[in-house]
Amino acid sequence: MLATTYRRPYKVRAEQVPDPKIEHPHDAIVRVTRTCICGSDLHLYHGLVPDTRVGTIFGHEFCGIVEQVGSSVQNLKVGDHVLVPFNIACGSCYFCQRELYGNCHNTNPEATAVGGIFGYSHTTGGYHGGQAEYVRVPFADIGPTKIPEGMHIEDAVLPTDVVPTGYQAAEMGDIKEGDTVVVFGAGPVGILAARCSWLMGAGRVIVVDHVDYRLDFVAKWAPAETINFKEIDDMVLHLKKITDWLGPDVCIDAVGGEADGSLWQSITGVRMKLQAGEADGSLWQSITGVRMKLQAGAATAAQWAINSVRKGGNISLVGVYGPTVNAVPLGNVVNKGLTIRANQASVKRHLPRLIEHVMAGRIKPREIITHRVPLEDVEEAYNIFSGKKEGCIKPLLIPPGTADIAEVPVASPHVH
Ligand code: NAD
Ligand code: ZN
Repeated sequence: MLATTYRRPYKVRAEQVPDPKIEHPHDAIVRVTRTCICGSDLHLYHGLVPDTRVGTIFGHEFCGIVEQVGSSVQNLKVGDHVLVPFNIACGSCYFCQRELYGNCHNTNPEATAVGGIFGYSHTTGGYHGGQAEYVRVPFADIGPTKIPEGMHIEDAVLPTDVVPTGYQAAEMGDIKEGDTVVVFGAGPVGILAARCSWLMGAGRVIVVDHVDYRLDFVAKWAPAETINFKEIDDMVLHLKKITDWLGPDVCIDAVGGEADGSLWQSITGVRMKLQAGEADGSLWQSITGVRMKLQAGAATAAQWAINSVRKGGNISLVGVYGPTVNAVPLGNVVNKGLTIRANQASVKRHLPRLIEHVMAGRIKPREIITHRVPLEDVEEAYNIFSGKKEGCIKPLLIPPGTADIAEVPVASPHVH
């Protein structure tokens, strides 16, 4: 089958690999109909996630059609259209029983924090992912969720990750009626977090980024006020100034460890010099080793969040951070009396409600898809998304032979 494999930092390719097989009675094989590239995949692509092995198949946002089921699978049958949460969860451990599916204890026993994730290096279990024609889905009775009849598959693929992540980002902010919410990051996750903040009663939503086309999009789509941090001298001071000098009630970090911005620049002028090479791919790659070490700890958005939120306020972290020192001002967390909540999204927990929101049109996920690319051209899709080229917000990959599949068919009554 055709699959997206990792070669080295800044290099993936679509290549022929062996088809996946049922390895356990609880497995299913899913034929992928649509799959997306996530901001989290960019951390892999940039070589920032430890133990990302050459040949790993990327991809944790996918939907498809059940092709084969293991002998113990009960809830799925061949031919079902399913969307598959990015977390691989056993459904029965201490954490799954508490609906913390992102922290499953059985699917990534090597790690102390995160559970298994499709296509996300051996630090999350070493599972192959779904940017491919087929994927092996372990614990197939737990994660895969049937897509309602009539739903467009482009609306079904995004609730595997980015929609529930944005939703949980807002939920963890514990937004009260009328609260002012600041979202750092206008990528797909920040855009959804802004949209969901309204659903949870926010009175004002402000999104911060430095990519103008993304700010333009979120201004209309969430909708939200926007701030381009390149135009602001002191982000913390500015956020206080526009919130009666108290600070926002809730700050959401939808950026993670690869943040840009003035704090980083003030810590090290080095990066600014290095970044001059960013437009030139080859120069950039030749210095990537240095950048990787420096950037794994660029917690600029988290810093801005902690320092600007009002005393007693809430911080919600969904941006992904590496394992290195982050220079986070914990003293301010204590002295301001802040509540910080963070996690990988527990996708399965949110699906019933989010599918309802999508069916009712309160969230229209597919409107954030800007690029529809054949899986064969995945290399170019990564290049465009990583470089924030061509107005890219969310790229969708279309596996060979699936272009005609659009809406999940309405089952026809049985003819005897
Ligand atoms: P993305 O890379 O498309 O978007 C990140 C955005 O942040 C970019 O638009 C970038 O310009 C902006 N940015 C950079 N520095 C900033 C700063 N200092 N302040 C404000 N904005 C800044 O990625 P995405 O798909 O939107 O994902 C966002 C983050 O969420 C990533 O770290 C990703 O790994 C993480 N994520 C977490 C989960 C989870 O379950 N917790 C799930 C999906 C993604
Ligand atoms: Zn993701």
